[in-house]
Amino acid sequence: MRREIYQHGKDAFVFKNLKKAKREEKAINRMITEKQSTRKDGSSNFNVGLMGGTFDPVHIGHLVTAEEAWQQFNLDKVIFIPVGLPPHKKVEGISDAEHRYMMTLLAVINNSRFEVSRYEIDKTTPSYTIDTIKYFKDFFGKEANIFFITGTDAVLEILTWKNYEDLLDVCTFIAASRPGYSLEKLHQRVEGYYPQTMNKIHLLENPAMSVSSTFIRERVRENKTIKYLTTEAVEHYIYKYELYIH
Ligand code: ATP
Ligand code: MG
Repeated sequence: MRREIYQHGKDAFVFKNLKKAKREEKAINRMITEKQSTRKDGSSNFNVGLMGGTFDPVHIGHLVTAEEAWQQFNLDKVIFIPVGLPPHKKVEGISDAEHRYMMTLLAVINNSRFEVSRYEIDKTTPSYTIDTIKYFKDFFGKEANIFFITGTDAVLEILTWKNYEDLLDVCTFIAASRPGYSLEKLHQRVEGYYPQTMNKIHLLENPAMSVSSTFIRERVRENKTIKYLTTEAVEHYIYKYELYIH
């Protein structure tokens, strides 16, 4: 995929920066592992938030949710994980994984507690959330607490999966409010249908709830401003690579 982009010559910038991003990710991994090992004395647990998504593009809804989760749940790190081949979405309509990765990286670059992982986009097989969460659980070790951060829309979807109990065994959910999916409704649904999961799903009021990637893509297509809906760097990236206009 990366070579393809380069050969087409349309995204030499992405290719060049990818090498840098790879180096950066290695450094990040080292840093996380070091930090984790300092906690191994059991003084306090390492709390990791994982946020999976298409991030096409990443926007303030994602960023504010992650920041809020970091604060409320005392997280050490939030790792954004752009999906490679989303099993539940049609791949044709989705921007190249490298673009989505780059935008996510640009969006978190000035926040030392946010990282971006290439785990799913470097995989050649479809990514299932359970596999990703297990991968990070192994990566951080048994003592780490894994929190999976999602919107309330995604939580309801997850609870209808066949083996959702496996997920709840390895992580706790942080469900952030989104329009049309009120926290109360979610609470009632969970309590009614999945009472055993109540202590594994925490609700989070999200102050930037109504923004979505779909909304941003539509606005770009309609030549409307997207200023402040995402970060400035992401906004410029979208224009530079002419994303979402066709
Ligand atoms: P799309 O419109 O393309 O579906 P999206 O805005 O829903 O994009 P995703 O990449 O699908 O973004 O979402 C990744 C995760 O972030 C999901 O768990 C989703 O529920 C959550 N999320 C997205 N936007 C918000 C928001 N404004 N508030 C809270 N959670 C959000
Ligand atoms: Mg979505």
